[in-house]
Amino acid sequence: MDMGADSRRILLVEDEKAISDAVAAYLKRENYWVTAAYDGQQAIDEFEMHNFDLVILDLMLPKVPGEKVCRVIRDKSEVPIIMLTAKGEVEDRTIGLELGADDYLVKPFSPRELVARVRALLRRAHADAEPQREVLTYGDLTIDLSGHRVFVKGEEIDLTASEFKLLTTLSRYPGRVCTRMELVEKVLGYDFEGYERTIDSHIKNLRAKLGDDPKHPTWLYTVHGVGYRFEDPTAHSTQKK
Ligand code: CA
Repeated sequence: MDMGADSRRILLVEDEKAISDAVAAYLKRENYWVTAAYDGQQAIDEFEMHNFDLVILDLMLPKVPGEKVCRVIRDKSEVPIIMLTAKGEVEDRTIGLELGADDYLVKPFSPRELVARVRALLRRAHADAEPQREVLTYGDLTIDLSGHRVFVKGEEIDLTASEFKLLTTLSRYPGRVCTRMELVEKVLGYDFEGYERTIDSHIKNLRAKLGDDPKHPTWLYTVHGVGYRFEDPTAHSTQKK
């Protein structure tokens, strides 16, 4: 399995808890990161706070309807959107597509079908976005994603596959706290419950190789009792948003 292509973040907007839970379970099993929102307002709030690679959006939602959520998202972003509609909810199935969604599924749908659509959309979106995603720069740290190479101040750093995966997982969303368990799932595979300590040793090695002082970190911050957080040192000085 291509781990790199699977560590995508999905916003799942669905007010029916049973459906949301089932879909989330399927997506997580496929290695996606899932954030669930249960009404339209929560969906907009989550979307404004975090970066997502794809949005699964139910049409009929409490507080703010799906159509409105779709417009709000589309005003700001080209993120792929899959619309969920109940049978008979829309006369013309293309309405979701007219709102700017990329695909739609009519309930009841099989979670497998949804996961297949998610994968296809992400593959398409990734192919379009590939050129600007290949190299990430965070101050003196440069991560060449496609080349699997890491540089600090222009000097190449030799990382193990797990350390590289850990670094790319954390640096993908600067400022976001990743729990140890999340990191275990992403870096070691999702079966490894109770292996949180190995993440601590990987972090320790990673810090040593990057020359990142845990007492005065540039990139890797410990969030006590929770996990770790990556910071982009250039983001704070410029404060662009
Ligand atoms: Ca609904």
